[in-house]
Amino acid sequence: MIVMKFGGTSVGSAEAMRRVAHIVETYRSRKPVVVVSAMTKVTDTLRAIAREASEGRMPTQALEELHRRHEETITTLLSGKDKEQTLAVCLAMLDELEDICRGISLLRELSLRSVDLVSSFGERLSAPIVAGLLNTIGMNAFSVDARQVVRTDDRHTEAEVDFPITDLLLCETILPAVAEDRIPVVTGFIGATEQGATTTLGRGASDYTASIVGGALQADEIWIWTDVDGAMTADPRIVEDAQVLEKITYHEAAEMSYFGAKVLHPKTMVPAVRRRIPIRIKNTFNPSSAGTLISDETTVMPLGAKTITSIDRLCLIMIEGSGLVGLPDTPARVFKTTAGLKATVLMITQASSEHDICLLLGEKDGLTVLHALRTEFARELESGILEAVSMQPDIAVVAVVGQGMKGTPGMAARTFGILGKHQINIIAIAQGSSELNISFAVSRDDLQDTVRLVHQAFELGKKKHS
Ligand code: ADP
Ligand code: ASP
Ligand code: MG
Repeated sequence: MIVMKFGGTSVGSAEAMRRVAHIVETYRSRKPVVVVSAMTKVTDTLRAIAREASEGRMPTQALEELHRRHEETITTLLSGKDKEQTLAVCLAMLDELEDICRGISLLRELSLRSVDLVSSFGERLSAPIVAGLLNTIGMNAFSVDARQVVRTDDRHTEAEVDFPITDLLLCETILPAVAEDRIPVVTGFIGATEQGATTTLGRGASDYTASIVGGALQADEIWIWTDVDGAMTADPRIVEDAQVLEKITYHEAAEMSYFGAKVLHPKTMVPAVRRRIPIRIKNTFNPSSAGTLISDETTVMPLGAKTITSIDRLCLIMIEGSGLVGLPDTPARVFKTTAGLKATVLMITQASSEHDICLLLGEKDGLTVLHALRTEFARELESGILEAVSMQPDIAVVAVVGQGMKGTPGMAARTFGILGKHQINIIAIAQGSSELNISFAVSRDDLQDTVRLVHQAFELGKKKHS
């Protein structure tokens, strides 16, 4: 059995969906279980729709556009009974979405629970369409609403999966159907709490759903079908000569996705690695290309580093003061504060002098965390033990990742040497004890140049790499 996940672009148009159907048909004998994302940009649109409704306006135009796009896809691709049934299912769903928007616009209130409910419609619409298309061309497919099989807690928009129950529900629902050569088409991204509230697993998390499904069913492999040939030495939108990586380890994949390689959701590796299920990244628009294999195997690059990744739109919070030396519980208080706000800290650095602590956070969390830390340390700030708790906006983080970096001297020198030569200022640096990556903060304005220069310094663009 192979779990095959198709991303937003792969199901983004009737033409792309035809490719998806062809791929599924090609691998029919390997018992595919399909996981789908929403059509491209639909989740963004749904978020905007929810916001507009919460401001007291009905998002009529956006709803009509969603309606048009899905109806047109169905009428272009499906025929006969499949077309009729899928149209009925999708139109009923769009009516339900409109009712929800009316409710939100009347209340003028948008809880994260409502955001999740509205966001769930993208995948709930795309899955029946893909299943209907597979049926139209002669396969025996059915759509599965992941809210029936992926059980989560109620941390809306970033829900945590309850694996024991989810594994059980997935096996019960999917295995008998696969045994009869039926093809399940599961909605990515979404789940539900025990009480039935709709949740989502985080932006881009359909990859994670694929791995949750693959792990539960003990699939032979998990294939992530997307719009590039595989995981690359850098984001191809930043580095023109970025190369596809043939093999990377679970650990490398986790590091690169954590540090911004959008091609995979960072949690994807968790269920797969537990059962040592290989993950492949493949291109829906170039299926004959080998793609990237993620497993325990890897190949080491001559210069150690394998890929350069980055995250934009961050900010740096600095807690400074010579009195920090006498305050051993400062890190604990800092983390208690950020955890209380559910803010993700991407990087933390503390110099050995203990004179300052730097935190790297998403831009959206910056001001809230800054105010909370100023409140937490109000007494120390007043007495002068701490000099300042301040924030620097417009920061980006760049990470150099590769298994071969472990124990290889000169990694930092190569990275920072080239940046020094080009007068790019490094604001903070961190290296994990695994030595699998070096990450550092730079100004947003320097982001693209930094990625290009470091990519060049490690000679990653020169030839085909494995
Ligand atoms: P999907 O909709 O299929 O899930 P995503 O847009 O989430 O696709 O991820 C694929 C995109 O990730 C690519 O189009 C590419 O621009 C971007 N990307 C960023 N960094 C990398 C990288 N290191 N390797 C490959 N792709 C990357
Ligand atoms: N549709 C969701 C999103 O855009 C999940 C995904 O595509 O992976 O975030
Ligand atoms: Mg994605």
